Amino acid sequence: MSSATDFTLAIEDLTVSFDGFKAVDSLNMYVDRNELRVVIGPNGAGKTTVLDLICGKTKATAGSIKFKNKELTELSEHQIVRAGVGRKFQTPSIYENLSVYENLEISYPAKRNVWGCLTFRRTAEIEARVREVAAEIFLGDLLSMEAGLLSHGQKQWLEIGMLLIQDPELLMLDEPVAGMSVKEREQTADLLNRISQGRSVIVIEHDMEFVKNIAHKVTVLHQGKILAEGSMDQVQNDERVIEVYLGH
Ligand code: ADP
Ligand code: MG
Repeated sequence: MSSATDFTLAIEDLTVSFDGFKAVDSLNMYVDRNELRVVIGPNGAGKTTVLDLICGKTKATAGSIKFKNKELTELSEHQIVRAGVGRKFQTPSIYENLSVYENLEISYPAKRNVWGCLTFRRTAEIEARVREVAAEIFLGDLLSMEAGLLSHGQKQWLEIGMLLIQDPELLMLDEPVAGMSVKEREQTADLLNRISQGRSVIVIEHDMEFVKNIAHKVTVLHQGKILAEGSMDQVQNDERVIEVYLGH
């Protein structure tokens, strides 16, 4: 028998009410290390709210969110980031006036020596890491480009890179391929498949073609509760899922 302590992320009986309306209602969800979980469901199902609860942006009314056995509902947003949780919002928040390189550099976790300055060795280490992440997100040849000049899809990748450079153990992405071209979607699927190795990833997405390419397991949310959970095949053939979501 596996228990909640075996999972990277264990959500139990999680509820949040907004003026009596339960946007998330007694939710239980468990995510493994090396797992890429996709959360789908109709608009208003509570998908974004679940990510808000995990990253501490919204406080739970009841229930527990354990990340590596640490209770997140008691931590601030900053503490949750430091614990190893990275979250990407729907609209990219990059520094448009800075270069791709600078955007990544700025996101490198600060760790200065006792005099508060960066050592030479540290600078070399950062540069190597920036180049490595830029290559991973398909921007290796665009390091000096101003971020504001990137395509919409490239901006999304840059923001993923800004999270990756912090090496989070749990990475959460809200509708990462919205507005992307077909080619960019394929590249993003490839990127997400690579980065789920060695960590846990939660993706909210509507594009079922994309979901098919990345999901290890799919959770279907409806009215703040889990309607179905399983492989893409199981979920796609579930009558209730077809009725409330896929049929539309
Ligand atoms: P989804 O991402 O699945 O489309 P959301 O999580 O954004 O859905 O929203 C779920 C429900 O909770 C919606 O009815 C939304 O209006 C409501 N909601 C979300 N955040 C808040 C909030 N901060 N205050 C009040 N209601 C909210
Ligand atoms: Mg949403």
